[in-house]
Amino acid sequence: MKIYVSVDMEGISGIVLKQQLTRGELLYEEARHFLTDEVNVIVESLIAAGVDEIYVKDAHSSGFNFLVHKLHPGAKYCVGATKIPERFPGLDTSFDGAMLIGYHAMGGIEKAIRDHTMTSVGWQTIHLNGSPVGEIALDSLLFGLYNVPVLLVTGDDQTCVEAQKEISNVTVYETKQSYGRHAGLIKSPQLVHKELKEVIKKSLDNKVNVLPKQIQGPYNLAIRFVSTDQADSRYYDGIQAKRINGLTAVYYGDNLIDLLSRAL
Ligand SMILES: [Zn+2]
Repeated sequence: MKIYVSVDMEGISGIVLKQQLTRGELLYEEARHFLTDEVNVIVESLIAAGVDEIYVKDAHSSGFNFLVHKLHPGAKYCVGATKIPERFPGLDTSFDGAMLIGYHAMGGIEKAIRDHTMTSVGWQTIHLNGSPVGEIALDSLLFGLYNVPVLLVTGDDQTCVEAQKEISNVTVYETKQSYGRHAGLIKSPQLVHKELKEVIKKSLDNKVNVLPKQIQGPYNLAIRFVSTDQADSRYYDGIQAKRINGLTAVYYGDNLIDLLSRAL
């Protein structure tokens, strides 16, 4: 079995503050240990469950957050910044499933640790064909283009709620309960690591019940920015890209990967 794991940082156990997520901040180096330890538990658990090929993508910010010298030798690691259509290097139809580890709720969700969609400074919301979407939906759709179902999503309680709305029958695992954007009731990382072993096995056993996320075109994707400067900096041809008000750009197309590459 072949599994693709995408790892963000906001939903990793023990992480609640912006200072833990930003390179150069005092708490960031410690948080990299939390992240790397959790990645190693995931890889170890996948191997124990019989998975023989594992790709792990460092999907937070610069894409270089893992402590590479401490990584488990049983996986291949995609590091560094990549953009759609190459958000998940090496992804193809040969993968049996994907996992979204350490994810977070979409921008604008109340009581969700570090809620945002793609960038926490520039964009308020993204709607795809009229429905609000966050990174869980967008990444599930990218895996869906290759017929790969998302089997497991981990993060805070709001992340789990959002994942269950977006992906029928997906397995979710709550690493913490959010009290606000920077506050939560956290589980000990030691407990999270112990529970993840069971959860990984359960999510693989549940694979038959989960379909790849796919939606039919044509597509329209609306991005609402925080300020008009950001909307000003975009190019609008009036057909495939339009500015519908001061803060909102809408992109149109029949091909989802082309649309997402142009818009995001
Ligand atoms: Zn992130």
